[in-house]
Amino acid sequence: AALEQAAAAQLRRALLALSLLLAFAVVCVGYFRTRLFLPLGRITQALNGIVSGRPLLELQAEAKRHDEIGLLSQGVTLLYASLQETQRLKEENEQLAQRDRLTGIGNRQALEQALPTLIGHAERYEEPLAMVLLDLDHFKRVNDTWGHPVGDEVLIKTAQVVRQAIRSDDRFFRMGGEEFVVLMPQTNAGGAERAAEKMRLALEAVDHPRVGRVTASFGVSERVWGEDFPSWYKRTDEALYQAKEAGRNRVACLVEESISVARVQLLWRKEWESGDPVIDAQHQALFK
Ligand code: GH3
Ligand code: MG
Ligand code: MG
Repeated sequence: AALEQAAAAQLRRALLALSLLLAFAVVCVGYFRTRLFLPLGRITQALNGIVSGRPLLELQAEAKRHDEIGLLSQGVTLLYASLQETQRLKEENEQLAQRDRLTGIGNRQALEQALPTLIGHAERYEEPLAMVLLDLDHFKRVNDTWGHPVGDEVLIKTAQVVRQAIRSDDRFFRMGGEEFVVLMPQTNAGGAERAAEKMRLALEAVDHPRVGRVTASFGVSERVWGEDFPSWYKRTDEALYQAKEAGRNRVACLVEESISVARVQLLWRKEWESGDPVIDAQHQALFK
């Protein structure tokens, strides 16, 4: 009986020890789960989010801790903030790179960026697209007489006056020097000619401090369907040359006859295909 009692007591102690061990294990697992594995999981999730460009996962609770988890969370938050700032600066730089420093309007780079959308839209909806080239008259004299800074003031004022004279849909750029371009969506040659005349009158009416009146000459043309920008620009420049030759302070529009391209638009239809790739390619090339 004494032996049995001793054995039972030993068993109880062993069971108690085992229970304590189990309880300890459960507490340990719980502790590591909440204090280590879950926070690490959230930090990894936050990093993954940063890599794939999603907004940052909240790590405020983790970042408050005074241990390695806290440091890691603060690091991830800082990394996110610094990436955001880099992106913002990059966008700001891109914007600035497309602005003309003097007048604040779009520069040549901005024009090149805007062209595909403008041309694509015009072709898709079969709408006219017009260009007005504007060049100040005898501008060299302004600089030579009153100096470059005064010339710059005239350029700034010119940009302001033109911007006010055109529609908000019209796109306005400085090509360099004293030459500006206005691209006019949904506008044909006649409409652009009237708009250019409006700009001409508005510029003529300005009384620049010291310099007085500075006029401009204008070349106008409408884009021909399928025409590339260099060819279109060259035609508009020819019109501008005509305006200068004819005595300046005037608008010249390319007359229709000088456009030697058909104005009928032929679109290839699927049902015209013969099935022979060589013949079809030739037919389509002919259409184009
Ligand atoms: P035209 O009527 O034939 O256009 O004569 P113009 O004197 O305006 O033409 P030209 O192209 O010979 O001269 C353009 C002048 O524009 C040359 C330069 O003095 C001036 N210019 C170009 N860029 C700037 C600029 O950023 N600021 C100033 N102030 N002047 C500029
Ligand atoms: Mg000029
Ligand atoms: Mg010029």
